Amino acid sequence: MPNTHAAVVMPGPSQPLRIDEIPSPKLEPGAALLRTLYSEVCGTDVHLFHGKLSVPFPIIPGHVSVGVVEATGGNLKDIEGAPIKEGDTVTFLDVHETCNNCYYCLVARQPTKCPKRKVYGISYSSTEGPLGGWSEAIWMKPGVKMIKIPKELTPETFIGGGCGLVTALHSIDMADIKLGESVAVLGAGPVGQSCVAFASLSGAGEIIAIGAPQSRLDYAKKMGATYTLNLDVPAVARTETVRRLTGGRGVDVVIEASGAPEAVSQGLDMVRDGGRMVICGHYTDNGAVEIHPHWQLNRKHVDLKGCWGSRYDHFHRAVALTARYGHLKPWRDMVSGRYELDKAADALRAVEERTALKAIITPNPKLV
Ligand SMILES: [Zn+2]
Ligand SMILES: [Zn+2]
Repeated sequence: MPNTHAAVVMPGPSQPLRIDEIPSPKLEPGAALLRTLYSEVCGTDVHLFHGKLSVPFPIIPGHVSVGVVEATGGNLKDIEGAPIKEGDTVTFLDVHETCNNCYYCLVARQPTKCPKRKVYGISYSSTEGPLGGWSEAIWMKPGVKMIKIPKELTPETFIGGGCGLVTALHSIDMADIKLGESVAVLGAGPVGQSCVAFASLSGAGEIIAIGAPQSRLDYAKKMGATYTLNLDVPAVARTETVRRLTGGRGVDVVIEASGAPEAVSQGLDMVRDGGRMVICGHYTDNGAVEIHPHWQLNRKHVDLKGCWGSRYDHFHRAVALTARYGHLKPWRDMVSGRYELDKAADALRAVEERTALKAIITPNPKLV
């Protein structure tokens, strides 16, 4: 194993990315080192670059990744007791050190709000080691939950869904879709696309994808959308169409995955009385929007929920679901560009400018 690993470092907001050699960590018992196959560029990485999240710069970005176990510190097992060995292809829950010892972990039972949690690619400085995915190697600290990629699941399919896959699964759980219910998904980025796929797998009836550009809406049809609405159509006309498709009532469920503040108000106009709305598109402060509490919330008897982060169970089931349904839902085709480490700035720009639906980083191109 080399003594250092090349990694992309984001020195600070709007500063050019650079490649540093990061010292290889000592593997204590329970730790491992992954040789990275794929990491992804997520909208959060763009927010980091824009300085919208407070993190310990310089950082190595990349929170959802797939790699091959290169070395371990002693014997490792997954949650079912199966050994994790050198040569296994794994992904891992990027969130860890959730403390199980605070109000949010123990009383509220909302571990995604635990103040002690650490996140690969976000809350570690590059001075602490290779703890982000845009790196030749990733250090699995003891306690990080790794999940083997089963042989029927191509790693590209899982990383094609990536971070948005797990966020979408959490949102769909919260939406509690019943067979035949109608769903509107606002936003046709990676989160919205996986919301469409999971709504379809949940047995939803009408699934209306709303977003832009047209190529993303065409893709949403492949994921299971039954109807699409382009943002070229004025907002009032979009709402009228949603109502026309649902007996004049509005959809049973709205999922807001676009990140546009006005979409929250528009979604409340699209949901039926007594329906549900889940918001998972606002991982950064994109501004405020006016809501009319009487007409849009109280009188409508709407169940409005915010969805933040993902737990181990979402990752575990996301791997199982992509393995089982990857041939039906084309997550793999969401990857619109592969970038080696020295092209990471291009990848980030492609996601920022929305020319790429999903850009992935291949730090060891000879392995993929
Ligand atoms: Zn906690
Ligand atoms: Zn992400």
